Amino acid sequence: MGKNSGIEWTHHTFNPWWGCVKVSPACKHCYAETWSKRVGARVWGVSAERRFFGENHWRQPLLWNGEAEKAGERRRVFCASMADVFEDRRDLDAWRLRLWAIIGETPWLNWLLLTKRPENAAAMVPWSDKWPGNVWLGTTVEDQEWANRRVPVLLNLPAVVRFLSCEPLLGPIHISGWLMKKDGLAKAGENRPTDEVVSKEGLHWVIAGGESGHGARPMHPAWVRSLRDECIDAGIAFHFKQWGNWRPVETPPQGSAKILVHGGMHFERMSKSIAGRDIDGKFWNGFPLIDDAEAK
Ligand code: SF4
Repeated sequence: MGKNSGIEWTHHTFNPWWGCVKVSPACKHCYAETWSKRVGARVWGVSAERRFFGENHWRQPLLWNGEAEKAGERRRVFCASMADVFEDRRDLDAWRLRLWAIIGETPWLNWLLLTKRPENAAAMVPWSDKWPGNVWLGTTVEDQEWANRRVPVLLNLPAVVRFLSCEPLLGPIHISGWLMKKDGLAKAGENRPTDEVVSKEGLHWVIAGGESGHGARPMHPAWVRSLRDECIDAGIAFHFKQWGNWRPVETPPQGSAKILVHGGMHFERMSKSIAGRDIDGKFWNGFPLIDDAEAK
């Protein structure tokens, strides 16, 4: 995927391959599947082949690493937007090995590995007690049920940053039981990256967002507010990405606007760029930062 990712929380996006199998309700409208079909790649499902890439593709992270080093500034790489790095297939093993190798060769890049299969991670990475400082591990949790399944698994993995992607957020999620209320964690809720060093324990970052695209499901503002407030209470970074295609409105507009009522709230369908990414007029751009010594 491209150098100039449209995802605000990452500088680059890297896919070690394309293709996947749906595993939970968050996958229902998987945009990666839609996109791959659009470009003629039949790579979804158990029996489909995956799509692999050549040398130029695999050289990209080395170029990004060089740019980051030259700038003296660490960069984030989202991995992966068109696959799940921990999908359990033997034909992916060799490509995973290649990924671990390139992570080792790019110390100026923080690799954000986001998975819906955290239960497979320990057996698939080449690290045991000490993971590289440039690997951030995240799992998607779309509602409480999937948070209960995936967060305890994530917390057992010793990545320097552990994060949740609550996108698409499909129901209320309470995470306070997994957050630690103490000083020294990343500060949440700033309109700029935080400048504190994260703790080695617990969760360090929560990203939330609504769904966009065909069939998008609305996200109740109460779910987002409570997630944000739990992060603030625990002093961890919170990042709000987008409302998606349904923005909550206090007063339903008249005329041709497409309106949906959900959970006692009115939502108006609009483009995700117009729906925006503020909560009650404020932007939430929290990022965890780790110091360079820890990251390398
Ligand atoms: S795990 Fe991710 S890539 Fe795979 S089907 Fe689900 S949403 Fe799509």
